[in-house]
Amino acid sequence: MESQRNTRQKQLILSILRDADRPMSINEVYSQVVLTLPKIAKSTIYRNIDSLLNQNLIDKYHLNDNEIFYIIKADSKEHKHFVICDDCKRIFDLPGCPIHALENAMEEEGFIIKEHQIQITGICKTCAKKNT
Ligand SMILES: [Zn+2]
Ligand SMILES: [Zn+2]
Repeated sequence: MESQRNTRQKQLILSILRDADRPMSINEVYSQVVLTLPKIAKSTIYRNIDSLLNQNLIDKYHLNDNEIFYIIKADSKEHKHFVICDDCKRIFDLPGCPIHALENAMEEEGFIIKEHQIQITGICKTCAKKNT
């Protein structure tokens, strides 16, 4: 059945993202999924990812201008932010989230916050050294 197959594909994508515990690009997800489902098309993975986003099970990150990354949805109180190196594309955790104090202040004003993002661009220490 179509829906069962989709469920299996989605479970696989979820477990890949859960194991990774960091944002993954569609290409990274794809290269993991084909190890289990060698015949799967990339368009199918896109469709499954869209559906997981709609189900609120994963989050989408724009880590640089042209690439979207996906990550398993964390406990909403313990979410993380990430920075990607423009050069080597390694992904770094941001040390904590500074937004909540601002959110609380806005909520006291009656503003209803839906979500927030932090976007930081730059190059990592290793690449900075390499380039000098
Ligand atoms: Zn780098
Ligand atoms: Zn945050």
